[in-house]
Amino acid sequence: MMQQKRSYSQSLADLKSRGIRLTPQRQVILQFLKETDEHPTAEQVYQKIGEQFPGISLATVYNTLNMLKELGVIREMSYGDMSSRYDGNDTEHAHLVCQSCNHVIDIMCPPQEMLATPDIAQHNFKIHSYRLEYYGACPACQSAQSFKSDAS
Ligand SMILES: [Zn+2]
Ligand SMILES: [Zn+2]
Repeated sequence: MMQQKRSYSQSLADLKSRGIRLTPQRQVILQFLKETDEHPTAEQVYQKIGEQFPGISLATVYNTLNMLKELGVIREMSYGDMSSRYDGNDTEHAHLVCQSCNHVIDIMCPPQEMLATPDIAQHNFKIHSYRLEYYGACPACQSAQSFKSDAS
């Protein structure tokens, strides 16, 4: 069974059923992440939400992103010392990451298919989540690259 990305209204209903109410600002941040495929950084979320709530601070955006992550409705893709990107897709999935433009494409795949390797059972390891990213060139960057080589 392929899991689908949960929508904004599904996530909001889930939070409500757990007795969690979000302020309008936090709702807008959650909605933005649920409706974009961009996997934005906190700064990008801040810029976008700032158009609607000019008074919002970057600290509030960070706090909200952390809170939504703790609640399990969004995910953080942490890259060591580079800034994190945030993912409104809270189901298990893999990523295609373009190394030219940093575009991220979601690939929905159930973990039992992704990790069907006998090694794991052997180590008696309990898997809570996984992270799998393939790095390469997205279609737009591929055609830009072939355009460049055609011109030379
Ligand atoms: Zn690209
Ligand atoms: Zn994703």
